[in-house]
Amino acid sequence: MATIRYETEHRCAHCGKELFGRADKKYCNDTCRNKGNSNRRRRIKWDEPKFVYQISRDLLRNRKIMAETGVWTDDPKVVTRGSLLDKGFNFEFYTNILKTSKGDYHYCYEYGYKELDNGKILVVMTEKYFEMTIKIKDY
Ligand SMILES: [Zn+2]
Repeated sequence: MATIRYETEHRCAHCGKELFGRADKKYCNDTCRNKGNSNRRRRIKWDEPKFVYQISRDLLRNRKIMAETGVWTDDPKVVTRGSLLDKGFNFEFYTNILKTSKGDYHYCYEYGYKELDNGKILVVMTEKYFEMTIKIKDY
């Protein structure tokens, strides 16, 4: 009588050695687990184009810097360009532009800024994103 042997593919995710025991076991020992995990982390970093997480990081940093000015929807703040740059603000990246007759607002999420004639920066906050959240909940 012929015996059918199924290939289980149950092998260590790092060294490829056959594994015995629990079906959810992924590595043969702690050394392989540690090496496997650090390789996986490194691979994620290398696979992702560097600029993708650099831009995401800069957008979030811009948002945080504007939030830290204490701005609120009905309370815009005027700051210097230098004070924003000192904190690492990146004027290159923003999520959207609002064009008005008085100039363009560059937004990073709900916070935005506009360059004033005196060289200073007006920081504003919009309720637009809150409204979007409410609308989505209504549907
Ligand atoms: Zn192993």
